[in-house]
Amino acid sequence: MEWGTGVGKPVRTVVNLPKGRTPVFPDRCVACGIDHPGATHRVGTNAIGWWTLAFWSFGPRFWVEVPACVPCCGRMRRQRWLQLAVNAAFIVVGVSIALALLQRYEGPFKRWIALGIALVCLLPVFLWETLFSRPIDMTAFSSTVDYEFRDAAYGNEFAALNQRGAGDEGHA
Ligand SMILES: [Zn+2]
Repeated sequence: MEWGTGVGKPVRTVVNLPKGRTPVFPDRCVACGIDHPGATHRVGTNAIGWWTLAFWSFGPRFWVEVPACVPCCGRMRRQRWLQLAVNAAFIVVGVSIALALLQRYEGPFKRWIALGIALVCLLPVFLWETLFSRPIDMTAFSSTVDYEFRDAAYGNEFAALNQRGAGDEGHA
């Protein structure tokens, strides 16, 4: 790991592909890079993002199977559950505080105060996303998908593999 460059959020390699195309992944573990990992980790598009909160819509889920070794599969699964649990806990606490406060407060800004409290309680959720970056992340748009890789080498290999596919279709 290089500490001299890019303090804070690491630079991530983003590859954008059409939604209809099945992505081709290098035969390496997406988390630790070991060759021929022999297992796959199911990755879905972000369930919680600012757009989820802004529009209250989760949109259609999009899944891919990403090569990963067995220990990394387990670790990524645990991390996801822990993150869900932490997020849920903060949301429950935030809503409870907002409701308790609002029962005692009768004023013109009631709704805005509730919204403010809810947003403050959601900050750790966003902080978590920034601090514990996953080896791979996906963001689905209406017709394309962004594949985001923590490991630049893996991301470039992925890009090269899928660019060849694009050439076959005559896009080049
Ligand atoms: Zn691994």
